[in-house]
Amino acid sequence: MAPRKLAAGNWKMNGTLASLAEIGRLLADHPAPGCDVLICPPATLLHAMAASAQGKIAIGGQDCHAKTAGAHTGDIAAAQLRDAGASHVILGHSERRTDHAETDAQVAAKSVAAHEAGLVAVICVGETEAQRDAGQTLDVISAQLAGSVPDGATAANTVIAYEPVWAIGTGRTPTSDQIAEVHALMRERLSARFADGADMALLYGGSVKPGNAAEIFAIPHVNGALVGGASLKAEDFGPIIAAL
Ligand code: PGA
Repeated sequence: MAPRKLAAGNWKMNGTLASLAEIGRLLADHPAPGCDVLICPPATLLHAMAASAQGKIAIGGQDCHAKTAGAHTGDIAAAQLRDAGASHVILGHSERRTDHAETDAQVAAKSVAAHEAGLVAVICVGETEAQRDAGQTLDVISAQLAGSVPDGATAANTVIAYEPVWAIGTGRTPTSDQIAEVHALMRERLSARFADGADMALLYGGSVKPGNAAEIFAIPHVNGALVGGASLKAEDFGPIIAAL
């Protein structure tokens, strides 16, 4: 079984009810995409977006708590995401790792919670610019994979997104060779650790745009993209989906 192709959108802290019109546009322009399409809106929009998506676009959260319920003001449990219509959840995004000091161990615990609630965990890894400049990229990615991906991960319940921190929202992307090097390493590590690691979908994320999507999707072991800014408008996300 080859990894499933996935075009994933991360809306981050963007969007209101009015933004749901983009879902209608996306469905009108790409009624039968050749890949799975996922959008992860802010939690406030999950329920309404799931209704707009009519089961044709998967909906995901952007984080969840490692516990199932309780006194955690402002947090959301994986089962609550599921209840609101989500099938996926992004975990360990670099903005969470930076803004909320999330560690690999916390990301792994959240991933376990996601799996137990029946969600697919989209686990993010990526080096900073300083780490790349210091020649540490492959070590950083290996350590993040080892620490953030839980033992119960399978190709069915886990997607890995390689997002160099310095490429997120900057308009800068690694070269194709640099992406290929990291994706080959991730495939090798995941295949060594998990029985179906060869089938886990590996996404690239960081300044993916309509103009560079086809080139990125041609790189070996790139099975899709995690798209931030260019996922907010159907006119940008649609061509990226079409390129996959
Ligand atoms: P970007 O964000 O596409 O705006 O660079 C990607 C991400 O953070 O997932």
